[in-house]
Amino acid sequence: MARTTGPVCRLCRRDGLKLFLKGTRCDTPKCAIERRDTPPGMNVTRRGKLTDYGVHLREKQKVKHYYGVLERQFRGYFSRAERGKGNTGEALMCLLERRLDNIIHRLGFGQSRAQARQLIAHGHITVNGCRVDVPSYLVRVGDVVRVKNRVKSLQAIHGNLEEVRRDPPDFLSRIDGAIPEGRVTRLPCIEDVSIPVQANLIVELCSK
Ligand code: SF4
Repeated sequence: MARTTGPVCRLCRRDGLKLFLKGTRCDTPKCAIERRDTPPGMNVTRRGKLTDYGVHLREKQKVKHYYGVLERQFRGYFSRAERGKGNTGEALMCLLERRLDNIIHRLGFGQSRAQARQLIAHGHITVNGCRVDVPSYLVRVGDVVRVKNRVKSLQAIHGNLEEVRRDPPDFLSRIDGAIPEGRVTRLPCIEDVSIPVQANLIVELCSK
């Protein structure tokens, strides 16, 4: 029987880019894009030519899927980035990188952003000693993200750290003790985003 890749993997194949949405599976030969680098659907061998609007839209959708945010939230991030100083596209990506679910994933505490969101919502994570159950919480420089000192929480995160075995990015530091913790050493910048993104295309689309 043919293996199905599921709707999430179809997103990567549609964009022709690994979005790392399925945890450790993404790093194995089971990854749908490794097995078949064509758009979803039977007997599809090449991509149709996208319109200019399509190119812009796909870039935005790619970022939304990668960070797991919906349109309304995304618009909120965009307005905030627009109001700030500097390059809007870069500011947008940096805001998204600061989300707590992204931080948990990039520290290796969660195998995927979806799993990181669940860990946060279930109260397994504290920031500066206080329980935070809002995945969209934006971290600041110096914030300490720690696993709750509870058997269930520690088991879950230690299990994920074993599975993932990924070093954190430059803007984070991690201490792998009995109670794993991470610290935000600086604000993330566009270079810290781990997928190629043409943020200027998103700005052009959203500014219309
Ligand atoms: Fe699926 Fe992950 Fe591969 Fe994307 S990168 S196709 S989510 S396994």
